Amino acid sequence: MIGRQDRWQEDLFVAGPLSDLIPDDHPLKRIDRVLDLSWFREEVRDLYCLDNGRPGIDPEAAVRLMLAGLVQGIVHDRKLLREWQVNLAIRWFCGYRLHEKLPEHSSLTRIRQRWGAERFGRIFLRTVRQCVTAGLVAGEVIHVDATLLRADVSWESLTVRHVEQVLAENCEGSGPDDDPPVKKPGGPRPKKYSLTDPDATMATSSRQYRLEPSYKQHTAVDDKAGVIVDVAVTTGEVSEGKELLKQIDRVEANTGREVSTVTADAGYGHPANYKELLRRDIVEVIVPPKARAGKRIATSRFKYDALHERVCCPGGKVLLSAAQAKNGRWYRARTQDCRRCRFRSRCFSPRENRRSVLIVDGYVALTAARRAHARGEPERRRLYNRHRGLVEGIHGEGKTQHGLRRAARRGLWNVSIQAYLTAAVMNLKRLAALCLHIWSVVPPEMGLRGPVLRLPSRRDPNPPIHITLTRPEV
Ligand code: SF4
Repeated sequence: MIGRQDRWQEDLFVAGPLSDLIPDDHPLKRIDRVLDLSWFREEVRDLYCLDNGRPGIDPEAAVRLMLAGLVQGIVHDRKLLREWQVNLAIRWFCGYRLHEKLPEHSSLTRIRQRWGAERFGRIFLRTVRQCVTAGLVAGEVIHVDATLLRADVSWESLTVRHVEQVLAENCEGSGPDDDPPVKKPGGPRPKKYSLTDPDATMATSSRQYRLEPSYKQHTAVDDKAGVIVDVAVTTGEVSEGKELLKQIDRVEANTGREVSTVTADAGYGHPANYKELLRRDIVEVIVPPKARAGKRIATSRFKYDALHERVCCPGGKVLLSAAQAKNGRWYRARTQDCRRCRFRSRCFSPRENRRSVLIVDGYVALTAARRAHARGEPERRRLYNRHRGLVEGIHGEGKTQHGLRRAARRGLWNVSIQAYLTAAVMNLKRLAALCLHIWSVVPPEMGLRGPVLRLPSRRDPNPPIHITLTRPEV
């Protein structure tokens, strides 16, 4: 029989709590069970006047609103406020009743300006600590990667930085009577930047793609359950390889555990990184940079003797230390050795009279990494496959589900806030999934192993649940 829906809906009262209208498997309801922001009011107390002025938005409600938006991939304030108006789940999640008036969208902008990125970073840090406590983070094996976030600027806003200065440096013939400037080959090129977001810089993830105004998110993911244990945002042109050691320090501080293994792609294959990881006794699974294949005999064919600080060439001659460079040391062969050598035509160009090689800092560690990579041990391959699935999967999840494909606002601090909250949401999802898993496999009469803290809430009759011990073995 065909049903008929009565379209008259002008009910005077709605009986029952709002939470009854939201299904138990709704993402916000799941996250609410593991989200604890009771500490946050104290965290931002010093930023407010306590005895004067109009009462502001409850800090916890504001954070919940931002998190609820990101859970549903809504990153823009106006759109989020429109959604909040009609979305029962967001209203309930933020603790607003049906008849309560909602704040203006500009309030969220002022809140972000007032709190700054650091306070949002602590929200993310809390989720990491919660995951550590719940046993979701081992903190030993971490996967590190970086991804570009397109800045929220138009192509029309791009201009050339210090164009006159750069032209003066790069070009010859700058006088009024001279010929048009001729660009020096190999000189630095003028850099574009955005007038509307000067923090963003031009970057690309591949030579096949054009440069775009971007930020770069550096992410570290724990191997055990894919929890994000560190996130940081820099401007797009920063090399991810230079951020690696800082990231490891932050991961150790965030988790309170010592990192034993790091995996990363070839962008992190800096000799200095290999050297420092070797010194710290951290196993690296980092794809080393390939030795440059050119017409000349490659530097990798020269044997470096670190103990005696000398280099032995394929012709069996010794190259002695010649000069210090910014990133290593030059070694030079003797002219009379090279003059008589049969490899001469392949070893250096006809314009030179002997071969010089640069041994960069960390060359020994780099060579060891190349050998380990060439051996292709199954454990290294397994870890690198995990790297692809975990950290690259995290970036994909952030971009496809939580609006991380493009920066929602301008300025490094604003993009950092977006990255912190997105990472917090993804961690909370994993924590909520763990709860669901435990509840599905552990019979109710057993209860959870370890104490489960239930905090009473004024608004919610169903108190949030905080797992404080490890997951039970089932
Ligand atoms: S050309 Fe000079 S540096 Fe090159 S292999 Fe011969 S002796 Fe060695």
